[in-house]
Amino acid sequence: MSKLEIKDLKVQVQTDDGPIEILKGVTLTIDDGETHAIMGPNGSGKSTLAYSIAGHPRYQITGGTVTLDGEDVLQMSVDERARAGLFLAMQYPVEVPGVSVANFLRTAKTAIDGEAPKLRTWVKDVNGVLERMNLDPTFSQRSVNEGFSGGEKKRHEIAQLDLLDPKVAVLDETDSGLDIDALKVVADGVNRFREREGKGVLLITHYTRILRYIKPDHVHVFVAGKVAESGGPELADELEANGYDRFLKAAAV
Ligand code: ADP
Ligand code: MG
Ligand code: MG
Repeated sequence: MSKLEIKDLKVQVQTDDGPIEILKGVTLTIDDGETHAIMGPNGSGKSTLAYSIAGHPRYQITGGTVTLDGEDVLQMSVDERARAGLFLAMQYPVEVPGVSVANFLRTAKTAIDGEAPKLRTWVKDVNGVLERMNLDPTFSQRSVNEGFSGGEKKRHEIAQLDLLDPKVAVLDETDSGLDIDALKVVADGVNRFREREGKGVLLITHYTRILRYIKPDHVHVFVAGKVAESGGPELADELEANGYDRFLKAAAV
């Protein structure tokens, strides 16, 4: 099972002028095996939703619930969320100087599984994933995200997704800054993950481009901190043709 349920989620951040509410009641259910796309204009709160699910301390939950298979995600530490089966690929990945990709992946896998992966199969698994992501084997000896190109960062994220094998993946702007070849490699990686039994994906994006390669089951238009409209893939086609104007006007009333 892998059911992520977000109900009436309200989130604020502290600013110099006091708290501001960014998420204004987000409700969304990703059922077992479903891929949902959240699409919205810049500043609509998409990353705030991702960070809130991830447990980033800057984002204060003021209302609502998030559960994974009925377990209260909001009560979990960041580590517990990962162990429970949530995977977050962020828009701005952090650099970890001095920690190699190989060590980073092994440490993450050990933390999530509660035991170290067997060395022989692990090395094979890592090499296989790097190859599928079109990354050179020497990539595993580089420091995490240090001097990575935009494309390398995203490929590395999807390599993590493949190896860590979570229940639900939240991918924030996984398509940004990718050329068409890298986009296809990344999309193939996400699609391979989706083919596994019962995996959920929440794909957050500003552009419709990636949805040509990753076909969502449900599409949600996100405006001003909430879901403005939900539909099938045809909603993404409408956004591609007409942009967000219709939704922005409706939200401004
Ligand atoms: P999106 O990912 O859709 O572009 P964000 O979630 O990054 O949107 O931001 C939503 C709104 O919240 C923006 O107006 C942004 O300026 C504001 N915001 C987000 N994080 C913070 C923060 N830590 N402090 C102040 N404002 C923030
Ligand atoms: Mg459904
Ligand atoms: Mg964002």
